[in-house]
Amino acid sequence: MKLALHWKILIGLALGVGVGLALNAFGADIKSTAGEGTFAQNTLAFITNLNRVIGDLFKRSLQFIAAPIILMAMCLAIGSLGDLRQLGRLGAKTMFIFYSTAFIAVGMGLALVNLVRPGDPRFIGEEARAKLIESTTTAAGSASARVIDLSKSTNPWDLLRDVMPTNPFDALARGDMLQIVVMAILIGIALSLLPRATSDPVFKVLEGLNEAFILIVRGIMRLAPIGVFCLITPIVATLGVDALIALGAYCLTVLAGLGLILFVMYPAVVVIFARMPVRTFFRGISQAQLVAFSSSSSAATLPVTIQNVRDNLGVPPEITSFVCAMGAKMNMDGTALMQAVAAVFLSQFYAQELSLAQQLSLVLTAVVAAIGSPGIPSGGMVMLVIVLRSVGVPAEGIAMILAVDRVLDMCRTVINVTGDAAAAVAVAGWEGRLAKV
Ligand code: ASP
Repeated sequence: MKLALHWKILIGLALGVGVGLALNAFGADIKSTAGEGTFAQNTLAFITNLNRVIGDLFKRSLQFIAAPIILMAMCLAIGSLGDLRQLGRLGAKTMFIFYSTAFIAVGMGLALVNLVRPGDPRFIGEEARAKLIESTTTAAGSASARVIDLSKSTNPWDLLRDVMPTNPFDALARGDMLQIVVMAILIGIALSLLPRATSDPVFKVLEGLNEAFILIVRGIMRLAPIGVFCLITPIVATLGVDALIALGAYCLTVLAGLGLILFVMYPAVVVIFARMPVRTFFRGISQAQLVAFSSSSSAATLPVTIQNVRDNLGVPPEITSFVCAMGAKMNMDGTALMQAVAAVFLSQFYAQELSLAQQLSLVLTAVVAAIGSPGIPSGGMVMLVIVLRSVGVPAEGIAMILAVDRVLDMCRTVINVTGDAAAAVAVAGWEGRLAKV
């Protein structure tokens, strides 16, 4: 019997977790370079590093596709829409789905974190509390200090300004999703306004290249079972379990919120707007979800998301490219939920309760911050610092959250990617353009 690809990827993932756990148990401290450890430790370090390299190769080959595919697919999408009113309608529907789901996601997160109160002393005992506070003071020069530093140079107003690229090649070279989308919209509109005799040859070239890139994605996905195995092994091998236990209540609150988004909100969206059976939806998008989980990057997963939505869910190519490319940057419900929950959790931890008005402002800030977050591992952390500042919660708190963020990041990336697919299906259904699958 021929096994479907998503099952093979799932097996790769499970094996990766198993090997990672074994490495974690046997190699007391596996460093990224083989040090002067014992023979066993060096062997473990070698295996871990080999997996990291192969996993990175897999991820990089997907990243390689992301920027050009957005540019070409979006130009084609907008060019083939033909008239600008249709583009406006598509844009409005897409934004409606993105923002309504983001507000509901943040609302659910806030409800949960106020209900569970994971930052209260009943969940974090005196000893754990002291350790956590210590981790924030010794964080100078470490990851959290870097994140806080980075956030200082991030001005939310600049994010708005930077939507417009100054140089198309620079935007492509940096892989700045939002700038590439803006550029593609401009070129697409211009092409659609030209006489067909002038624009047709350009569309033909774009079409050919687009299909070639989709073919590359299909090829890369054949290697996905090995790719996810290699991505997940080093993560599990170097996972610190202590922090996860100390912040168990916070982690479970975030996971519960993400679960509600995945199993309640998105199914409702695809059923209400597109009447698509939930099973069909989840089966169609499963490959992208597995890649998102193991890569923690919705930007790197984008080519797989586009291919899955187009080939498995019956969404026309132009709607797929339009919604998924915008979504990869602007639709991050999982990140928005985490940022809201983290802010309230830290306010509880520091006993600086947020008023109702502050929590209401948090809804808006978290939605905007998620849009500003890049779709890369821990991309939501820099904007979290800005969210914390906006409500006056000490930003050093992120040192504690960073310690457990790896696993949560994997889960919310799945949500971010699923959200793009749900939005594409919903918009196609709303437009009456969903093909039967
Ligand atoms: N890793 C997430 C993504 O790529 C962003 C985040 O850190 O929340 O979607």
